[in-house]
Amino acid sequence: MIQVSHLVKNYGSFCAVDDISFRIEKGEVVGFLGPNGAGKSTTMNIITGFLSATLGTVTVGGADILDDPLNAKKMIGYLPEQPPLYPDMTVREYLNFAYDLKGCTMDREKHLDNICRVVKITDFRNKQIKYLSKGYKQRVGIAQALVGNPPVIIFDEPTIGLDPKQIIEIRNLIRTLGKEHTVILSTHILQEVQAVCDRILIINRGKLVADEKTENISRIVQNTRRFNVKISGPQRDVLSMLRNDVPGLTYAEVLAERDGDAYTYMIESEPGTDIRKKLFYKLAEKQWPMIGLEALGMSIEDIFIAVVDQTDRSTAKKLPQKKEKKRSVDARRSRDEELIAEDIVQRTAEEAGKFDAEPADEQPGEKYYEDHKIAGDTIAEAAEESEKRAAASAGPDNVGAAGNGSAADGQN
Ligand code: ADP
Ligand code: MG
Repeated sequence: MIQVSHLVKNYGSFCAVDDISFRIEKGEVVGFLGPNGAGKSTTMNIITGFLSATLGTVTVGGADILDDPLNAKKMIGYLPEQPPLYPDMTVREYLNFAYDLKGCTMDREKHLDNICRVVKITDFRNKQIKYLSKGYKQRVGIAQALVGNPPVIIFDEPTIGLDPKQIIEIRNLIRTLGKEHTVILSTHILQEVQAVCDRILIINRGKLVADEKTENISRIVQNTRRFNVKISGPQRDVLSMLRNDVPGLTYAEVLAERDGDAYTYMIESEPGTDIRKKLFYKLAEKQWPMIGLEALGMSIEDIFIAVVDQTDRSTAKKLPQKKEKKRSVDARRSRDEELIAEDIVQRTAEEAGKFDAEPADEQPGEKYYEDHKIAGDTIAEAAEESEKRAAASAGPDNVGAAGNGSAADGQN
């Protein structure tokens, strides 16, 4: 469905995307995982025809994004990192606007009703976008991506800045869409790709460092186990026992915290070994009670190291093999629930203060639609309409909803 070959993007002398190649089959749900600045948005912007590549090619459904952009873009619905929303439009007006600009020809009412039902915004169709919560704005952004029923949907960090409940809802929505569409999403959160995707492409510093089925990445992550364990007993003896007498335990250090006669130790075990039972019996033998045990998640950097260590680097270049049967939605959902608690903690730490502070920073949609327009005849009308709206809403206090994207929209 999507073929990316030797993609390079240089910004001046800085190489943001460095020779990335992969292929995505019809119906796959693929996650781009990587830290901020890895090159995920740049890659997505090139696939969607937003940006041009320095080198390399992208084809979507056989159409080259440079040579045949109309056909290639027709196949893609895109939710950029900053969704191109017009805060002063109602949801209905906005989706009609997207419908016109994309030059769609299907039954308008039926099509838009159906999209609203899928993304669960039917009850908000007459509300102005600026009065919607961040989560609902995101749904409207997803709705515009679905207008025209493109077979490929691309989401750039679809849950960033959402609260944990909204995150679960958007993930469920993406999973639903994954049943009918080819989906690519980007994220810097491992749990997000684990929860939603069939396959994970890990990008770091512009390079593709792994291309694996989700279950393989999960296995790697599970195999490298790290715990904080709190043990009541003489510190020096406990440490010596941990280091020397527990088979499979590869590393131990004392953390500074002390709780009465108990100390917390950070331990690591060999891949594939569950150290907990062995440790329990050893401690019982010595009569040193274990009074706490906490599994530590891996940071994204740990995962890069683990994945790059454990996967043959050439697999990153390899094209995907035959598709495996998709995990059932229920299985993925229950895993999601397990992961969510961990995720909430991680996100809260990462994004502390961000939920409330986020000023809705809409970007003007015109450039986006200019780039994604499919047919010319309705565009003039829609552009005129958009100008009228901009003029109508550009009072002295309103810098212009359709103008520079800084329309006042403080509420969340
Ligand atoms: P990600 O989406 O993974 O966070 P990006 O694709 O946005 O990463 O950015 C990749 C790198 O390219 C970053 O180091 C970023 O600073 C740089 N970059 C992105 N856009 C530009 C630009 N227009 N000019 C110069 N550097 C850019
Ligand atoms: Mg990005």
